[in-house]
Amino acid sequence: MNILLIGSGGREHALAWAISGSPLCDRLYIAPGNPGTAQCGENVVLDIADHSAVAAFCKLHGIGLAVIGPEGPLVDGIADDLIAAGIKTFGPSKAAAQLEGSKAFTKELCAEFGIPTAGFGRFTDANEAKAYVASQGAPIVIKADGLAAGKGVVMAETLAEASEAIDMMFSGGLGAAGAEVVIEEWMIGEEASFFALCDGAHAIAMASAQDHKRVGDGDTGPNTGGMGAYSPAPVMTPALEEQVMAEIIRPTLAGMIARGIPFKGILYAGLMITAQGPKLIEYNVRFGDPECEVLMPRLKSDIVPALLASCDGVLDAFDLRWSDEAALTVVLAAKGYPARPEKGSVIKGVEKAAALDDVLVFHAGTKQTATDLVADGGRVLNVVGLGKTVSEAQGRAYAAVALIDWPGGFCRSDIGWQAVKRERE
Ligand code: ATP
Repeated sequence: MNILLIGSGGREHALAWAISGSPLCDRLYIAPGNPGTAQCGENVVLDIADHSAVAAFCKLHGIGLAVIGPEGPLVDGIADDLIAAGIKTFGPSKAAAQLEGSKAFTKELCAEFGIPTAGFGRFTDANEAKAYVASQGAPIVIKADGLAAGKGVVMAETLAEASEAIDMMFSGGLGAAGAEVVIEEWMIGEEASFFALCDGAHAIAMASAQDHKRVGDGDTGPNTGGMGAYSPAPVMTPALEEQVMAEIIRPTLAGMIARGIPFKGILYAGLMITAQGPKLIEYNVRFGDPECEVLMPRLKSDIVPALLASCDGVLDAFDLRWSDEAALTVVLAAKGYPARPEKGSVIKGVEKAAALDDVLVFHAGTKQTATDLVADGGRVLNVVGLGKTVSEAQGRAYAAVALIDWPGGFCRSDIGWQAVKRERE
């Protein structure tokens, strides 16, 4: 079958790599893709925002499955429009994508269906929000309701910081995303990400991961899209995974059915493992980036039948096999990231790094010129190492990073440090 994959990041290169390895995949098209995805299929120029143009492309090229990588097009309803045009599409409907697109929607669902999460209040008025903060005390978490590219969360240590965040959001500092504000209890614990594949009625557990959001070593400096990740997350024992499926994932699917908007696709739960058990921080409705880059190399089953089973609602008869090995990815970013990444610097040595055993290199913001591979975004490359332990995977990833000659880039030197520490103990 011919497959269309939408997106252009490291996540999509990892997905393209996995999909193109399936015997079921005849031709793989990626829109718009990147120089890495071009090694797995054919990159095509398509206006993703124009859903009829995407549907017309699918008809013309006999696409049997469309896979949507990023959240933007899902929240925009691309899955609804492609399905209405008769194209099998992996990813949730616009209504179901509210699990990521609206924090208030998710919190209400949690409250109604008893899904463990931080206590919260919702506000459209600054004075009421401040009165609530005063009644709860600091520290406290202030969030814009809508998508704000990671900038919509303020961890307020004091009442003054909370008040400032409320004013910033209600005065339009985050645009429409801040028209409603969710205020949450500050949960304490270790964070982990957990991925489940869903078909509306059924969910199967995929794998866990942990990421590093801060730009600097020791988890310091500004937040980014993610500077590295590893899978599995040592904190997620099999018993804890079962608890997450039973208390969080399955009740969410049941709640979505009750609301008449069944969820299909990847449910990515951001979790806090608290002293009272796992609690939901947030949902995303697609694979994480860079988490996908460490999940795909560990997936032993063919991904294409799994994606089709999600579309067809037959996941109950399905099983996914995962490697016991760990995978760890180091993100190479352009200097200046996240504030002002510099574009255009030349990158050498990627083939040498990718040729190492148990190493994969996934592209994100790269561009191929007539002569060179150059930086074309903030996060540019993902260098993945595999190993029996996170420590071994880390060693392989950094040995490969050392072969990449890119003076215009940088990476963190401590990805996986908590897991490595845990393995040494
Ligand atoms: P992302 O970029 O991860 O999609 P987001 O803007 O959707 O972020 P959240 O995931 O809700 O926001 O929060 C971002 C981070 O803030 C979390 O990973 C976590 O570290 C922290 N955080 C959010 N809510 C809480 C909470 N209630 N208690 C403690 N920490 C929290």
